[in-house]
Amino acid sequence: MSDKLELQLTLYPDPILRRVALPVEAFDEELRETVAAMLERMHSSHGVGLAAPQVGLGKRILVLNPSGKPEDALALVNVRILERSGPTTAFEEGCLSFPEIYAEIQRPERCRIAAFAPDGTPIERELDGFTSRIVQHEYDHLEGVLLVDRMSPADRHRLKPALQALVEAYKSPRPAASAKRM
Ligand code: ZN
Repeated sequence: MSDKLELQLTLYPDPILRRVALPVEAFDEELRETVAAMLERMHSSHGVGLAAPQVGLGKRILVLNPSGKPEDALALVNVRILERSGPTTAFEEGCLSFPEIYAEIQRPERCRIAAFAPDGTPIERELDGFTSRIVQHEYDHLEGVLLVDRMSPADRHRLKPALQALVEAYKSPRPAASAKRM
């Protein structure tokens, strides 16, 4: 048995979450191992989506699984959002980088994406509903944009003590709790 790659979550306010992730250049075995480890981390942390910066990797890779069924797992490499459309809807989002924090976030209902599968196969898709929302959330991570930037001023005020607690915890780390987050 070879050593399996195990990835740990990067929590707010770790500065890596603020960096713009770089494109993947090689669609090789290392990429496929990274994707497999990201999927495992997402599932074991009870998330529905995970972007590479959330496990300390500054690469344009994201994984998602809107239903939680193994066959619905999806990995997108070098994903681009070509277009966002439809009415803007509000949804209470969580984030694996913000344990125990939930905020209502406004996003367009639909998006059209282009990406690559981990084996280099091009993917182009129209997404709507929950899948579209997850992809837009995870794409934000690749740009260094976080939940805290998208929440309403009222939520930011309401969540100020919880956000401050994360800043304190970052200075003296503790284990992350688990819930349904992306
Ligand atoms: Zn997130």
